[in-house]
Amino acid sequence: MATLTLENVAQTYNPGEDPDRWALKPLELTLESGRTYALVGPSGCGKTTLLNILSGLVTPSHGRVTFDGVDVTSTPTRLRNIAQVFQFPVIYRSMTVRDNLAFPLECRGWPRSRIEERVRAVAEALGLADGLDVPASRLSADEKQLISLGRGLVRDDVAAVLMDEPLTVIDPQLKLSLRRKIRQLSDEFAPTVIYVTHDQYEAMTFAQELLVMSEGRLIQRGTPEQLFESPSSTFVGWFVGSPSMNFLRGTLERGAARVGEHLIDLAWSPPVPHGSEVTVGIRPEYIRIVDGGSHPGDASETSVHGRLVAVQDHGESRVCEIQVREQQVAVKVRREVHVPKVGSFVDLGLPRSKCLPYVEGRLATCGD
Ligand code: ATP
Repeated sequence: MATLTLENVAQTYNPGEDPDRWALKPLELTLESGRTYALVGPSGCGKTTLLNILSGLVTPSHGRVTFDGVDVTSTPTRLRNIAQVFQFPVIYRSMTVRDNLAFPLECRGWPRSRIEERVRAVAEALGLADGLDVPASRLSADEKQLISLGRGLVRDDVAAVLMDEPLTVIDPQLKLSLRRKIRQLSDEFAPTVIYVTHDQYEAMTFAQELLVMSEGRLIQRGTPEQLFESPSSTFVGWFVGSPSMNFLRGTLERGAARVGEHLIDLAWSPPVPHGSEVTVGIRPEYIRIVDGGSHPGDASETSVHGRLVAVQDHGESRVCEIQVREQQVAVKVRREVHVPKVGSFVDLGLPRSKCLPYVEGRLATCGD
């Protein structure tokens, strides 16, 4: 396991290109040994480029990459001591499951008994222990990808495990348990894992830390809780979370946000003049629908009036769309919560501590 650093690393695939269009803009990054990271962001934001720079498949156009302080910028992949798991299975079809898992350890000259012990531990964690002698060619696509994952996690002496969308081909029913198993293996053997995914739910449930990218830049890094509770920009609030964070555009008035007839109390007052544009960011999970039977909000809550225009059933929860003047607000409620009829007028309770102020797309600092 190693600490990985990128020092002023940037990548352009077209020499002479305007730096504003580079696939990866200059980046300083330290990834600590033994932690699990998820790289997330919209398609084309530079996730794979960053992963390929770490693996050595791409030599960056600028900057330096180090593993535990050793410069590996121009070191080829095979000499970087990393394990990789790709979207599709990379296994030896003619070998048994056991031999596939053992192969990376045999190449490193591990003693037979240690190989057997390690292969068994990984196979058990991934649910492959009963079929160790089965040829890989006989397995389903899901099982083949499990072997790939096992091969990626079998060595405990790699600098890092790099995974590029490893669960794409896996059956959705299996994904949840598999994420848990990968997490269990990672916790047990504590490799440094960098995991690229399109699926922010997968990232939130798997990684200790998320790195959110957009247009070749690292926009925010933090624990799933930090990204959920305090997105540093409206982009992160929109990208992380399902449904996205709500954003209500207004103007600053006496430390609150004026949105039509509503004066919404903010978690803190941003350091901008009275009358400036301010956007209130609030997660759908924190808004309460106040129906006839529930208590009206107290001073810690702003009451906002709107019309319920749609309800989406998500099984364990429901997402209500409420039209507040010309803006749409999503409210996520647990299944057992009473939801009024579509078309009715409702009052919403917005807790002050959850109403974050954004100015020009950035989370504002406290102006007090
Ligand atoms: P996706 O989620 O769709 O895989 P990504 O976030 O991994 O996207 P990259 O694949 O790193 O993004 O691509 C970043 C930018 O670099 C994109 O504009 C892409 O078109 C460009 N790019 C990537 N690889 C190459 C290449 N080999 N040659 C030229 N341009 C490339």
